Amino acid sequence: MTNIETSIDKTVKFNFSEGYSSVLIPLNDKKTLCLSSQIGCPMKCGFCISGKRTFERNLTLDELKEQLTEAIKYLKLIDIKSKENKNEKNYLAENITSIVFMGMGEPLLNLKTVLEFCDYVNEFYGYSYSKILISTSGIISKMEEVINNPNKIQLAISLHSTNQQVRDKMMPASNCHKISELIKTCNYYNEKYRQKIMIEYLMIKGLNDSDEDLQGILDLNLAKRTNFNLIPLNGSFELEGKIYESSTKETMSHFRNELMKAGYKCFTRTSMGADIEAACGMIK
Ligand code: SF4
Repeated sequence: MTNIETSIDKTVKFNFSEGYSSVLIPLNDKKTLCLSSQIGCPMKCGFCISGKRTFERNLTLDELKEQLTEAIKYLKLIDIKSKENKNEKNYLAENITSIVFMGMGEPLLNLKTVLEFCDYVNEFYGYSYSKILISTSGIISKMEEVINNPNKIQLAISLHSTNQQVRDKMMPASNCHKISELIKTCNYYNEKYRQKIMIEYLMIKGLNDSDEDLQGILDLNLAKRTNFNLIPLNGSFELEGKIYESSTKETMSHFRNELMKAGYKCFTRTSMGADIEAACGMIK
């Protein structure tokens, strides 16, 4: 049984009875499908509601497929054909611009199944691997596995701070990964891929949005055209007894302008589906 909620901004959330959700996000006339990979998340990032829930298990391949099937049914894509039928248009790619593993869970902790799913959508729907993106909190050995995979699946990494102490507090389960090692892995991706890695940076007022923080990002010396995705914090987040909120629009624009001036691609993510708890970091 799937329960469907629709946001005032037309974002759609599919809630599956086993306890996970997927989200269909409208982008003009195209859509992004955001999938969950686990029930709960063992990474327990402090700012994320999914991480507050007890980790139960990895999702199975059938459960990943079910998230796609529900979106296909919702969009009424009755004409989808497998790639054996070369004369038919690829209706899936025309209607779902990208499939991203950014929902509940750390996809790299369920990598074998996630990769099997990528093979399935490629083989069955002719959906290009390069339109699939796996977003990780930064598990280096698994990132390397994705980079070394012959099918060029995109990677995004949640950086959120270039200050090791601050990052370790925000993402306690990631504290075994040093920022310098993560950046080496990003550089490895950038050398192997035509399109550069996506760096996600959650912007939190007074925690990671100062000019010093901006300089810290510039000092990483990532390859030009690396993609930065600046994300406003949804709601608030408590760290060591202090309540933090999102950076202001002005600060976010300042970061964006400076990163673009330095030769990077940068966009600020609009918070979609907040009223139905479908926005980034809000999936329970
Ligand atoms: S941000 Fe991602 S990795 Fe961190 S707890 Fe939430 S779902 Fe897990």
